[in-house]
Amino acid sequence: MNSPPSRRAAAAAPHAGDAGAVETVRRRVARAFAPDGELAGAVRGFVARDAQREMALAVFDAIVERATLVAEAGTGTGKTFAYLVPALLAGGKVLVSTGTKALQDQVHGKDLAAVTRALGLRVECALLKGRQNYVCLHRLARAEREAQLATRQDAAHLRAVLRFARTTASGDLAELGEVPENAPIRSLVTSTRENCLGGDCPNFDDCFVYKARRAAQAADVVVVNHHLFLADLALRDDAISEFLPAVDTVVLDEAHQLPRIAGEFFGTTWSLAQVVELAHDARAAGLGAAADAAPWVALAQSIEQATRELRLQLALAGLAPGARVALERIGRRAALAQAVEAIDTALAALAAVLAANRGRHNALDALEPRAAALRAHLAEWRDAFAAVGADADASAAQAEQTVRWVGVSAHGAQFNATPLAPGDAFARARARQTQAWILTSATLTVVQRFDAFIAETGLAGARTMRWDSPFDFARQALLYLPQPMPSPLAPDFAERVADLAWPVIAASGGRAFVLCTTLRAVERIAGRLRARIAESGAELPLLVQGTATRRALIDAFRRAGNAVLVGAVSFWEGIDVRGETLSLVVIDKLPFAPPDDPVVEAKLRRLRALGRNPFVEYQLPQAVTLLQQGAGRLIRDETDRGVLMILDDRLLTKPYGKAVLASLPPFARTRSEAEACGFFAQAQRTT
Ligand code: SF4
Repeated sequence: MNSPPSRRAAAAAPHAGDAGAVETVRRRVARAFAPDGELAGAVRGFVARDAQREMALAVFDAIVERATLVAEAGTGTGKTFAYLVPALLAGGKVLVSTGTKALQDQVHGKDLAAVTRALGLRVECALLKGRQNYVCLHRLARAEREAQLATRQDAAHLRAVLRFARTTASGDLAELGEVPENAPIRSLVTSTRENCLGGDCPNFDDCFVYKARRAAQAADVVVVNHHLFLADLALRDDAISEFLPAVDTVVLDEAHQLPRIAGEFFGTTWSLAQVVELAHDARAAGLGAAADAAPWVALAQSIEQATRELRLQLALAGLAPGARVALERIGRRAALAQAVEAIDTALAALAAVLAANRGRHNALDALEPRAAALRAHLAEWRDAFAAVGADADASAAQAEQTVRWVGVSAHGAQFNATPLAPGDAFARARARQTQAWILTSATLTVVQRFDAFIAETGLAGARTMRWDSPFDFARQALLYLPQPMPSPLAPDFAERVADLAWPVIAASGGRAFVLCTTLRAVERIAGRLRARIAESGAELPLLVQGTATRRALIDAFRRAGNAVLVGAVSFWEGIDVRGETLSLVVIDKLPFAPPDDPVVEAKLRRLRALGRNPFVEYQLPQAVTLLQQGAGRLIRDETDRGVLMILDDRLLTKPYGKAVLASLPPFARTRSEAEACGFFAQAQRTT
């Protein structure tokens, strides 16, 4: 009879000094991956692979030595098991952070269960999300009492959240399908770090946010996402800040995303929405707790009026919804400085009233630090608007470290100061933590070199190791570069992409992703393909980004079995469609970041000013990583077969084209349309 699973030892990982204990666990790690080992015995379809076992041992060594390991493991290596097994067997507390929700669900919902079952361990696992995912009971009650909702749909959503809050155990809004993520009601029924009352909240004992955090504190393994992890690391969130130092092993999966998103967390941001929300909260708390103390309605109205004026001034300066513009490129800066000053004046009046009423009520006291933090941002931005041009040298010096830029949405605006070398801050934060860090992904290198990733994350001195994918790309897949290749500079490039891709899409019977670099290209390519499909009479469902949520489009693609999905950057990664349903991936062009994006532009300028080569150090690695991700959608297991088609003549005409091709898996290659189209018939014969 099998013995019952033993509760995993929650003690810390074996100490490097205890060589005997370390060797015993190390042998167990190796044995788990053997052809007749625990994983083979318990996990259906498990195939013993040298690369997976080697990676697991490298992870174990890094855990014992509390080192930083940067590990690239090609698709199919089985890297999730390769870090979970050593992390669980080593003991101690483990934090796993992922880049996408799909992987977060897979690790928490599937892989952890499989590994613990195979190893005969009983492990407490918790999934912890950012607070904006959980219903805030305090704000929900307030919304029910006071909210004046703009539409009937908002009212229906509020009723749905009220019903949900009465029955849910987790409070996680992801379980409430009928209220979409972008529903306006979400911000009224969830909390932010600023507006949460914490221990002073009347709902604290039942609070879903704090329940989730207590569960995470008690768990052996906690799964989070990079946003929560980075917010914590940058000391911008109190979600896990007391808990991160107590973790023995940190695993950062999909680590290729870290350089891209680190800037958000090591910089500063404030928005007009935060100012308006403070005004709303002040009016509600003031009228509720100290109605006689101040003209709360007038105070709130003057703040709201001032934010509307700043929004108007941004529009007059030419910033349309969707714009992302660097401070120095914005006109009418004197007027903008004045508008920022006017918000500050209105907030100062509120701050004075709050100070005069300090101690009357928790809800009022909680507003004071929020007003102070926003006023500090406002002062910086007023000075920045006023300084640009007046003191070019000072602005240039500032620009070397951070870029200030404004992002405008349909109803609001965000004011950002983004560091240009977030790796420095990331490395400092890493230095504060003493546990092992394992950073892993299928795409961390350019031509098998980690230099760009290490430079971007500031992790000089980290161990680096890589394992190729075990798939037989030369047999399973074909890279088709059409002859002639279109130039991305041609005005009709998008239409030519569609025309060249259509015969291959027809030959594959749909089953295709068309991955584009811009939303504009999605529109044009989809338009042309729609016409081609109609002309041909083929009954291929065409799914286009923007017509439904990403999740709905991917589900529809899987269900259809012969669909063509056209999408931009959000479809290049984090999607796992196995088998024949996805047999063709078409990529319109090399995904270089737009050089006029304020953050990209400033990064390039900074590297040039430092005498470095921005193309080689930043633009090319960033494009190669995204291209590898896009190409990686095609072959997901040993039996997958398919064609990757890339339409960008720079692959063949530019000197860097060779490096890009050398960074892709070793596909068989062709320039022949007939051969590409014939691949699908041949694939059918061999399956
Ligand atoms: S503690 Fe914070 S998040 Fe929880 S119910 Fe209260 S205000 Fe909302």
